[in-house]
Amino acid sequence: MDHRRLGRELDLFDTDPLIGAGLPYWLPDGAAVRHTLEEYVREEERRTGYRHVHSPVLGKRELYEISGHWAHFSEDMFPPMELGGEQLVLRPSLCPHHALIYRSRGHSYRDLPLRMAELGGMYRAELSGVLGGLTRVRAISLNDAHVFCTLDQVVDEAGAALAMIRRAYAAMGIEAARFRLSLAGAGGKYVADPEKWRRAEVLLREVLEREGVAYQAVEGEAAFYGPKIDVQVVDGAGREATLSTVQVDFHQPERFDLGYVGADGARHRPVMVHRSIVGSVERAVAQLVEVHGGAFPAWLAPLQLVALPVSDGELPAAERLVGRAVELGLRAEVRGPGRGGLGARIRSARLVPYQAVIGPAESAAGTVALRLRDGRRLPAGPAAEALRAITDLVAAHTTELWRG
Ligand SMILES: [Zn+2]
Repeated sequence: MDHRRLGRELDLFDTDPLIGAGLPYWLPDGAAVRHTLEEYVREEERRTGYRHVHSPVLGKRELYEISGHWAHFSEDMFPPMELGGEQLVLRPSLCPHHALIYRSRGHSYRDLPLRMAELGGMYRAELSGVLGGLTRVRAISLNDAHVFCTLDQVVDEAGAALAMIRRAYAAMGIEAARFRLSLAGAGGKYVADPEKWRRAEVLLREVLEREGVAYQAVEGEAAFYGPKIDVQVVDGAGREATLSTVQVDFHQPERFDLGYVGADGARHRPVMVHRSIVGSVERAVAQLVEVHGGAFPAWLAPLQLVALPVSDGELPAAERLVGRAVELGLRAEVRGPGRGGLGARIRSARLVPYQAVIGPAESAAGTVALRLRDGRRLPAGPAAEALRAITDLVAAHTTELWRG
Protein backbone atom coordinates (compact mmCIF):
# COMPACT_ATOMS: atom_id res chain seq x y z
CA MET A 1 0.00 0.00 0.00
CA ASP A 2 1.32 3.43 -0.92
CA HIS A 3 2.06 5.32 2.28
CA ARG A 4 1.79 8.70 0.50
CA ARG A 5 -1.83 8.16 -0.52
CA LEU A 6 -2.79 6.58 2.81
CA GLY A 7 -0.97 9.25 4.77
CA ARG A 8 -3.26 11.86 3.26
CA GLU A 9 -6.42 9.74 3.44
CA LEU A 10 -5.84 8.87 7.08
CA ASP A 11 -4.84 12.44 8.01
CA LEU A 12 -1.38 11.38 9.14
CA PHE A 13 0.83 13.84 7.25
CA ASP A 14 0.80 16.15 4.26
CA THR A 15 2.90 18.74 2.48
CA ASP A 16 2.44 22.35 1.50
CA PRO A 17 4.30 24.05 -1.35
CA LEU A 18 4.93 27.02 0.93
CA ILE A 19 6.81 24.81 3.38
CA GLY A 20 8.54 23.07 0.53
CA ALA A 21 9.18 19.75 -1.15
CA GLY A 22 10.56 17.03 1.08
CA LEU A 23 9.37 18.83 4.21
CA PRO A 24 6.18 17.04 5.25
CA TYR A 25 4.25 18.18 8.28
CA TRP A 26 2.45 15.84 10.66
CA LEU A 27 -1.23 16.04 11.52
CA PRO A 28 -2.39 15.05 15.03
CA ASP A 29 -2.97 11.37 14.18
CA GLY A 30 0.41 11.06 12.48
CA ALA A 31 2.13 12.94 15.28
CA ALA A 32 0.56 10.50 17.78
CA VAL A 33 2.10 7.56 15.89
CA ARG A 34 5.56 9.10 15.64
CA HIS A 35 5.62 10.29 19.24
CA THR A 36 4.60 6.84 20.45
CA LEU A 37 7.38 5.29 18.40
CA GLU A 38 9.88 7.82 19.76
CA GLU A 39 8.80 7.11 23.34
CA TYR A 40 9.18 3.37 22.76
CA VAL A 41 12.69 3.83 21.39
CA ARG A 42 13.79 6.10 24.24
CA GLU A 43 12.42 3.69 26.81
CA GLU A 44 14.17 0.71 25.17
CA GLU A 45 17.40 2.70 25.13
CA ARG A 46 17.00 3.68 28.77
CA ARG A 47 16.50 0.01 29.71
CA THR A 48 19.60 -1.06 27.80
CA GLY A 49 21.98 1.41 29.38
CA TYR A 50 21.90 4.36 26.98
CA ARG A 51 21.82 7.92 28.24
CA HIS A 52 20.22 10.60 26.13
CA VAL A 53 21.82 13.85 25.08
CA HIS A 54 20.46 16.74 23.07
CA SER A 55 22.45 18.73 20.54
CA PRO A 56 21.74 21.48 18.00
CA VAL A 57 20.98 20.76 14.35
CA LEU A 58 23.66 23.22 13.19
CA GLY A 59 27.41 23.21 13.39
CA LYS A 60 30.31 25.12 11.93
CA ARG A 61 31.64 24.02 8.57
CA GLU A 62 34.96 23.26 10.24
CA LEU A 63 33.29 20.54 12.32
CA TYR A 64 32.38 18.65 9.14
CA GLU A 65 35.81 19.20 7.68
CA ILE A 66 37.24 17.41 10.71
CA SER A 67 34.65 14.60 10.63
CA GLY A 68 35.26 14.04 6.92
CA HIS A 69 31.67 14.81 5.87
CA TRP A 70 32.83 17.88 3.95
CA ALA A 71 35.23 15.89 1.82
CA HIS A 72 33.10 12.78 1.33
CA PHE A 73 29.49 13.79 1.75
CA SER A 74 29.11 17.49 0.90
CA GLU A 75 26.96 16.94 -2.20
CA ASP A 76 24.24 15.58 0.12
CA MET A 77 24.54 18.59 2.44
CA PHE A 78 22.75 21.94 2.33
CA PRO A 79 24.98 24.84 1.33
CA PRO A 80 26.52 26.67 4.29
CA MET A 81 24.91 29.77 5.77
CA GLU A 82 27.09 32.84 6.25
CA LEU A 83 26.74 34.49 9.62
CA GLY A 84 29.11 36.95 11.23
CA GLY A 85 32.09 35.80 9.19
CA GLU A 86 31.42 32.13 9.95
CA GLN A 87 29.84 29.38 7.92
CA LEU A 88 27.14 27.34 9.61
CA VAL A 89 25.92 24.03 8.22
CA LEU A 90 22.72 22.08 8.78
CA ARG A 91 24.09 18.82 10.08
CA PRO A 92 24.09 15.77 7.80
CA SER A 93 24.49 13.39 10.77
CA LEU A 94 24.68 13.44 14.55
CA CYS A 95 28.06 11.72 14.95
CA PRO A 96 30.29 14.83 15.03
CA HIS A 97 28.22 16.46 17.78
CA HIS A 98 28.35 13.26 19.83
CA ALA A 99 32.09 12.93 19.35
CA LEU A 100 32.49 16.47 20.72
CA ILE A 101 30.20 15.73 23.68
CA TYR A 102 32.31 12.67 24.48
CA ARG A 103 35.51 14.69 24.15
CA SER A 104 34.24 17.48 26.42
CA ARG A 105 34.77 15.37 29.55
CA GLY A 106 37.58 13.10 30.68
CA HIS A 107 36.94 9.35 30.51
CA SER A 108 38.50 6.27 31.99
CA TYR A 109 38.08 2.64 30.96
CA ARG A 110 35.54 2.35 33.80
CA ASP A 111 33.16 4.66 31.89
CA LEU A 112 33.12 2.34 28.87
CA PRO A 113 31.05 1.28 27.10
CA LEU A 114 29.57 4.78 27.12
CA ARG A 115 26.24 4.68 25.29
CA MET A 116 25.03 8.06 24.03
CA ALA A 117 21.65 8.35 22.32
CA GLU A 118 19.69 11.13 20.70
CA LEU A 119 16.61 11.24 18.54
CA GLY A 120 17.57 14.33 16.64
CA GLY A 121 17.22 16.28 13.45
CA MET A 122 19.52 16.08 10.46
CA TYR A 123 19.25 17.34 6.89
CA ARG A 124 19.80 16.04 3.37
CA ALA A 125 19.90 18.20 0.26
CA GLU A 126 17.81 15.73 -1.75
CA LEU A 127 16.95 16.97 -5.23
CA SER A 128 13.30 17.94 -5.58
CA GLY A 129 12.77 15.37 -8.35
CA VAL A 130 13.19 12.42 -5.98
CA LEU A 131 11.14 13.75 -3.09
CA GLY A 132 7.86 12.24 -2.02
CA GLY A 133 6.04 11.09 1.04
CA LEU A 134 8.17 10.21 4.05
CA THR A 135 10.90 8.10 2.45
CA ARG A 136 12.85 10.86 0.69
CA VAL A 137 12.78 13.95 2.87
CA ARG A 138 15.08 16.88 3.45
CA ALA A 139 14.51 17.07 7.22
CA ILE A 140 15.04 13.78 9.03
CA SER A 141 14.54 12.80 12.67
CA LEU A 142 17.10 10.10 13.24
CA ASN A 143 16.97 7.60 16.07
CA ASP A 144 20.72 7.60 16.55
CA ALA A 145 23.22 6.46 19.14
CA HIS A 146 26.96 6.10 19.49
CA VAL A 147 28.65 3.64 21.78
CA PHE A 148 32.18 4.66 22.73
CA CYS A 149 33.92 1.47 23.77
CA THR A 150 37.10 -0.57 23.80
CA LEU A 151 37.97 -2.89 20.95
CA ASP A 152 37.05 -5.87 23.16
CA GLN A 153 33.56 -4.49 23.72
CA VAL A 154 32.64 -3.86 20.07
CA VAL A 155 31.14 -7.26 19.29
CA ASP A 156 28.96 -7.30 22.43
CA GLU A 157 27.74 -3.76 21.86
CA ALA A 158 27.02 -4.22 18.16
CA GLY A 159 25.35 -7.57 18.91
CA ALA A 160 23.13 -6.00 21.58
CA ALA A 161 22.13 -3.30 19.06
CA LEU A 162 21.19 -5.96 16.53
CA ALA A 163 19.07 -7.71 19.17
CA MET A 164 17.32 -4.39 19.95
CA ILE A 165 16.55 -3.96 16.27
CA ARG A 166 14.97 -7.41 16.09
CA ARG A 167 12.84 -6.74 19.20
CA ALA A 168 11.67 -3.41 17.79
CA TYR A 169 10.71 -5.02 14.46
CA ALA A 170 8.68 -7.67 16.31
CA ALA A 171 6.90 -4.92 18.27
CA MET A 172 6.17 -2.90 15.12
CA GLY A 173 5.14 -5.90 13.02
CA ILE A 174 7.85 -5.07 10.47
CA GLU A 175 9.93 -7.80 8.86
CA ALA A 176 13.52 -7.42 7.82
CA ALA A 177 13.81 -8.43 4.16
CA ARG A 178 17.51 -9.13 4.57
CA PHE A 179 20.62 -8.17 6.50
CA ARG A 180 23.33 -6.61 4.41
CA LEU A 181 26.99 -6.26 5.28
CA SER A 182 27.78 -3.03 3.44
CA LEU A 183 31.42 -2.71 2.43
CA ALA A 184 33.45 -0.04 0.69
CA GLY A 185 33.56 0.02 -3.10
CA ALA A 186 35.69 1.64 -5.73
CA GLY A 187 36.03 5.40 -6.03
CA GLY A 188 36.88 8.26 -3.72
CA LYS A 189 33.73 8.08 -1.61
CA TYR A 190 35.49 6.36 1.26
CA VAL A 191 38.26 7.34 3.64
CA ALA A 192 41.39 5.42 2.78
CA ASP A 193 42.74 3.19 5.52
CA PRO A 194 42.60 -0.44 4.40
CA GLU A 195 43.72 -1.86 7.74
CA LYS A 196 40.91 -0.13 9.67
CA TRP A 197 38.33 -1.21 7.10
CA ARG A 198 39.50 -4.79 7.32
CA ARG A 199 39.36 -4.83 11.13
CA ALA A 200 35.88 -3.31 11.20
CA GLU A 201 34.63 -5.82 8.64
CA VAL A 202 35.99 -8.75 10.66
CA LEU A 203 34.18 -7.46 13.77
CA LEU A 204 30.87 -7.01 11.94
CA ARG A 205 31.05 -10.51 10.44
CA GLU A 206 31.62 -11.85 13.94
CA VAL A 207 28.54 -9.97 15.21
CA LEU A 208 26.33 -11.33 12.43
CA GLU A 209 27.58 -14.86 12.91
CA ARG A 210 27.22 -14.77 16.68
CA GLU A 211 23.67 -13.43 16.41
CA GLY A 212 22.89 -16.21 13.94
CA VAL A 213 21.83 -13.81 11.20
CA ALA A 214 22.04 -14.79 7.52
CA TYR A 215 23.46 -11.90 5.51
CA GLN A 216 24.84 -10.81 2.16
CA ALA A 217 27.99 -8.76 1.75
CA VAL A 218 27.61 -5.96 -0.79
CA GLU A 219 30.37 -3.64 -1.96
CA GLY A 220 29.83 0.09 -2.42
CA GLU A 221 27.17 0.55 0.29
CA ALA A 222 29.34 1.41 3.31
CA ALA A 223 29.36 4.72 5.18
CA PHE A 224 32.28 6.86 4.07
CA TYR A 225 34.07 6.18 7.37
CA GLY A 226 33.45 2.45 7.76
CA PRO A 227 31.50 -0.71 6.93
CA LYS A 228 28.04 -1.32 8.39
CA ILE A 229 25.29 -3.82 8.89
CA ASP A 230 22.15 -2.57 7.14
CA VAL A 231 18.75 -3.97 7.93
CA GLN A 232 16.77 -3.84 4.71
CA VAL A 233 13.01 -3.60 4.40
CA VAL A 234 10.78 -3.80 1.33
CA ASP A 235 7.81 -1.49 0.74
CA GLY A 236 4.46 -2.32 -0.86
CA ALA A 237 5.85 -1.70 -4.36
CA GLY A 238 8.79 -4.06 -3.77
CA ARG A 239 11.38 -1.32 -3.35
CA GLU A 240 14.15 -2.12 -0.90
CA ALA A 241 15.53 0.44 1.55
CA THR A 242 17.73 0.54 4.62
CA LEU A 243 15.86 1.15 7.86
CA SER A 244 18.31 0.29 10.64
CA THR A 245 22.10 0.18 10.81
CA VAL A 246 24.98 -0.89 13.02
CA GLN A 247 28.41 0.48 12.14
CA VAL A 248 31.92 0.11 13.46
CA ASP A 249 34.03 3.24 13.14
CA PHE A 250 37.75 3.67 13.79
CA HIS A 251 37.91 6.83 11.71
CA GLN A 252 36.00 9.51 13.65
CA PRO A 253 37.56 8.69 17.05
CA GLU A 254 40.90 9.42 15.42
CA ARG A 255 39.76 12.54 13.59
CA PHE A 256 38.39 13.98 16.84
CA ASP A 257 41.31 12.64 18.86
CA LEU A 258 39.04 10.83 21.33
CA GLY A 259 40.64 9.08 24.24
CA TYR A 260 40.21 7.32 27.55
CA VAL A 261 42.59 6.40 30.32
CA GLY A 262 43.11 2.63 30.42
CA ALA A 263 43.71 0.37 33.42
CA ASP A 264 47.42 0.77 32.62
CA GLY A 265 47.19 4.53 33.16
CA ALA A 266 47.96 5.23 29.50
CA ARG A 267 45.77 7.03 26.99
CA HIS A 268 43.86 4.82 24.52
CA ARG A 269 41.57 5.40 21.59
CA PRO A 270 37.94 4.25 21.89
CA VAL A 271 36.00 2.71 18.99
CA MET A 272 32.66 4.25 17.95
CA VAL A 273 29.76 1.92 17.28
CA HIS A 274 27.06 3.88 15.45
CA ARG A 275 23.63 2.30 15.62
CA SER A 276 20.06 3.14 14.76
CA ILE A 277 17.19 0.93 15.87
CA VAL A 278 14.26 2.25 13.83
CA GLY A 279 16.29 4.46 11.52
CA SER A 280 14.63 7.72 10.67
CA VAL A 281 11.24 8.23 12.26
CA GLU A 282 9.92 9.30 8.85
CA ARG A 283 10.96 6.12 7.08
CA ALA A 284 9.85 3.93 10.00
CA VAL A 285 6.34 5.42 9.94
CA ALA A 286 6.22 5.12 6.12
CA GLN A 287 7.05 1.43 6.49
CA LEU A 288 4.44 0.98 9.24
CA VAL A 289 1.80 2.53 6.97
CA GLU A 290 2.86 0.37 4.02
CA VAL A 291 2.83 -2.83 6.07
CA HIS A 292 -0.31 -2.28 8.14
CA GLY A 293 -2.32 -0.12 5.75
CA GLY A 294 -3.30 2.15 8.62
CA ALA A 295 -4.35 -0.70 10.96
CA PHE A 296 -1.38 -0.08 13.26
CA PRO A 297 -0.56 -2.37 16.19
CA ALA A 298 -2.73 -1.18 19.11
CA TRP A 299 0.18 0.48 20.95
CA LEU A 300 0.89 2.66 17.89
CA ALA A 301 -2.69 3.35 16.79
CA PRO A 302 -3.56 7.08 16.71
CA LEU A 303 -6.91 6.19 18.29
CA GLN A 304 -6.88 3.04 20.43
CA LEU A 305 -10.40 2.89 21.81
CA VAL A 306 -13.62 4.37 20.50
CA ALA A 307 -16.81 4.39 22.57
CA LEU A 308 -19.99 4.14 20.49
CA PRO A 309 -23.16 4.87 22.47
CA VAL A 310 -26.22 3.45 20.72
CA SER A 311 -28.33 6.51 21.57
CA ASP A 312 -27.99 9.79 23.44
CA GLY A 313 -29.12 8.00 26.63
CA GLU A 314 -25.77 6.14 26.73
CA LEU A 315 -23.62 9.21 26.14
CA PRO A 316 -22.80 9.72 29.85
CA ALA A 317 -21.66 6.09 30.20
CA ALA A 318 -19.54 6.43 27.03
CA GLU A 319 -17.95 9.64 28.32
CA ARG A 320 -17.16 7.98 31.66
CA LEU A 321 -15.46 5.08 29.87
CA VAL A 322 -13.37 7.37 27.68
CA GLY A 323 -12.48 9.57 30.65
CA ARG A 324 -11.09 6.54 32.50
CA ALA A 325 -9.27 5.32 29.40
CA VAL A 326 -7.58 8.70 28.91
CA GLU A 327 -6.60 8.72 32.60
CA LEU A 328 -4.92 5.35 32.00
CA GLY A 329 -2.88 6.83 29.14
CA LEU A 330 -4.93 5.49 26.23
CA ARG A 331 -5.92 7.50 23.18
CA ALA A 332 -9.71 7.25 23.25
CA GLU A 333 -12.75 9.19 22.13
CA VAL A 334 -16.55 9.08 22.07
CA ARG A 335 -18.34 9.00 18.72
CA GLY A 336 -21.95 9.69 19.59
CA PRO A 337 -25.20 9.52 17.60
CA GLY A 338 -24.51 13.03 16.30
CA ARG A 339 -21.85 11.40 14.09
CA GLY A 340 -24.39 9.15 12.29
CA GLY A 341 -26.08 5.78 12.69
CA LEU A 342 -24.39 3.04 14.70
CA GLY A 343 -23.52 0.97 11.60
CA ALA A 344 -21.87 3.97 9.93
CA ARG A 345 -19.93 4.82 13.11
CA ILE A 346 -18.68 1.25 13.43
CA ARG A 347 -17.50 1.34 9.81
CA SER A 348 -15.79 4.71 10.30
CA ALA A 349 -13.90 3.22 13.27
CA ARG A 350 -12.74 0.14 11.33
CA LEU A 351 -9.05 0.92 11.90
CA VAL A 352 -9.49 1.52 15.65
CA PRO A 353 -8.31 -1.63 17.47
CA TYR A 354 -10.95 -1.54 20.22
CA GLN A 355 -14.56 -0.44 19.80
CA ALA A 356 -16.94 -0.36 22.75
CA VAL A 357 -20.60 -0.32 21.74
CA ILE A 358 -22.64 0.84 24.72
CA GLY A 359 -26.38 0.11 24.74
CA PRO A 360 -28.88 0.56 27.57
CA ALA A 361 -27.90 -2.75 29.22
CA GLU A 362 -24.16 -1.92 29.30
CA SER A 363 -24.89 1.62 30.44
CA ALA A 364 -27.02 0.40 33.35
CA ALA A 365 -24.58 -2.34 34.42
CA GLY A 366 -21.31 -0.42 33.90
CA THR A 367 -20.09 -3.08 31.47
CA VAL A 368 -18.68 -2.98 27.96
CA ALA A 369 -18.84 -5.44 25.09
CA LEU A 370 -15.70 -4.90 23.00
CA ARG A 371 -15.53 -5.40 19.27
CA LEU A 372 -12.02 -5.93 18.00
CA ARG A 373 -10.79 -4.48 14.73
CA ASP A 374 -10.42 -7.99 13.26
CA GLY A 375 -14.15 -8.65 13.68
CA ARG A 376 -14.05 -10.59 16.96
CA ARG A 377 -16.72 -9.72 19.51
CA LEU A 378 -15.99 -10.26 23.17
CA PRO A 379 -18.65 -11.00 25.79
CA ALA A 380 -19.76 -8.06 27.95
CA GLY A 381 -17.71 -7.59 31.12
CA PRO A 382 -16.87 -4.93 33.70
CA ALA A 383 -15.51 -1.76 32.05
CA ALA A 384 -12.53 -1.66 34.42
CA GLU A 385 -11.43 -5.15 33.35
CA ALA A 386 -11.67 -4.31 29.66
CA LEU A 387 -9.61 -1.16 30.17
CA ARG A 388 -6.97 -3.04 32.16
CA ALA A 389 -6.67 -5.69 29.43
CA ILE A 390 -6.23 -3.01 26.75
CA THR A 391 -3.72 -1.07 28.85
CA ASP A 392 -1.68 -4.25 29.42
CA LEU A 393 -1.61 -5.05 25.71
CA VAL A 394 -0.55 -1.52 24.83
CA ALA A 395 2.19 -1.55 27.47
CA ALA A 396 3.48 -4.88 26.12
CA HIS A 397 4.21 -3.31 22.69
CA THR A 398 2.79 -6.33 20.91
CA THR A 399 1.14 -6.81 17.55
CA GLU A 400 -1.42 -9.11 19.26
CA LEU A 401 -4.86 -7.54 19.38
CA TRP A 402 -6.15 -9.66 22.28
CA ARG A 403 -5.00 -12.38 24.63
CA GLY A 404 -7.13 -15.30 25.73
ZN1 LIG B 1 26.87 8.18 13.71
